[in-house]
Amino acid sequence: MKFAFSEISLPKRNSLAVPVYADKNFSSTAKEVDNMIGGMLSRAVDASRFNGKKGDILEVLAPAGTEVSRIILFGMGEKNELTQTDFEDLGGTLVRKLNGSGAKIVTVILDDLGDCPLKDSDAAARVAFGAKLCSYSFNRYKTEDDPASEPSLGKMTVACKTSSGARKAFQDLEAIAEGVFMTRDLVSEPANTLYPESFAERCRELSSLGVEIEILNEDKMQRLGMGALLGVGQGSVRESQLVVMRWNGASGKKSSRKPIAFVGKGVCFDTGGISLKPGPGMEEMKWDMGGAGTVTGLMKALAGRKAKANVVGVIGLVENMPDGNAQRPGDIVTAMNGKTIEILNTDAEGRLVLADALWYTQDRFEPEIMIDLATLTGAIIISLGHENAGLFSNNDDLAGQIFDAGEAVGEGVWRLPMSKAYAKQIKSPIADLQNIGTGGRGAGSIVAAEFLKEFVGDTPWAHIDIAGMAWSKKDTPTVPKGGTGYGVRLLDRFVRDNYEGK
Ligand SMILES: [Zn+2]
Repeated sequence: MKFAFSEISLPKRNSLAVPVYADKNFSSTAKEVDNMIGGMLSRAVDASRFNGKKGDILEVLAPAGTEVSRIILFGMGEKNELTQTDFEDLGGTLVRKLNGSGAKIVTVILDDLGDCPLKDSDAAARVAFGAKLCSYSFNRYKTEDDPASEPSLGKMTVACKTSSGARKAFQDLEAIAEGVFMTRDLVSEPANTLYPESFAERCRELSSLGVEIEILNEDKMQRLGMGALLGVGQGSVRESQLVVMRWNGASGKKSSRKPIAFVGKGVCFDTGGISLKPGPGMEEMKWDMGGAGTVTGLMKALAGRKAKANVVGVIGLVENMPDGNAQRPGDIVTAMNGKTIEILNTDAEGRLVLADALWYTQDRFEPEIMIDLATLTGAIIISLGHENAGLFSNNDDLAGQIFDAGEAVGEGVWRLPMSKAYAKQIKSPIADLQNIGTGGRGAGSIVAAEFLKEFVGDTPWAHIDIAGMAWSKKDTPTVPKGGTGYGVRLLDRFVRDNYEGK
């Protein structure tokens, strides 16, 4: 889908979308069009439930003799309450509506924004961003065209007072959208094509944007002593990999600044191993690499918009399979930091992968802060459903910054507690640690976070459990169902707000 920005003027053809504010308040352009067609828009509004509140939408086919073919009224509610998410949602909502109608080209007019807190150029750029995010589909395995389900909309022009500003603002957002799309692609890809080595190859694509890529194979990880990560992958015919992605965007005095680090769990398929999962729904375990997918998409977004920060992305890639050579319950492995771990359940494998990836990252890069993302526990879905990711941290400032970034972009996180009482549950009677808690089903997400904390040293660290967020079974305005790309926008914002321009 193509995007353009223009000054405010009525288009000569195709579809037109104009705003209506709270209590049926037509914008100037909406009024002008209404007058041109003899009050037809006002009549249509009066004959419907349309009230001008956020999310309201009404389509009117233009009468004969009119230049445009279709007019969409969209409600925006109270101007002073509008947020960037509202404009993004508008873009997505229009795309879905117009694809349903078969429209090919649309001009969206944003006029009379009044006391809206966003600049009109930013608002316009957000509309295009939301539309772009909504336009994503994963269709590389469809071999037959189905014109009826193909999206019809090919171009959106957003008109506002200062279109040059909008065009500029959209450049960065487009780079972020490309990052989100990479994450969605990776998460959607099945495990027979996306396995540790092929995932690592996909990361190499980022070198064209200036990201330095390093891939550690099993030999290298063996020499580093990554027994926790390697144990998970030992039942698979696919070789485990650890990918390091580096973006050095800080300049001048800040160029030598320590990096910030993002670490992702990349279990390309999780059968549970010898502690085999039940069959129903197991296909969903292709996206147990969602944390690694988000870190990779984030690196693409940051490099794409040339973020002024030094960032390291590290992803641990494995496949967890049952096999004659697979890890057994009861096995004891030694992690890179020398700690021994008794494996009581081979399906609690993500924390074993992260244990070595986290330790390696803080040991090698001494980052200012370290954030890991993982589809770590089903328990987090019991706690928070699919509305917020779980946030765990050893640092209140860092937790607050992540929360604020989530609020700003509409990707929520909610912090859960950590304490010694939970940490006790992972003390093994015969090794330093055990990989599941003694508390049964209670507080499973927190106990998992306590396990990770054993491998972060003194680094300010946060863990985001995205098990409920990486995949969606329903459409939202800017996220089509399937891989969501959750976390890319959140962490891009986190970097921008806290590590650029300071
Ligand atoms: Zn598992």
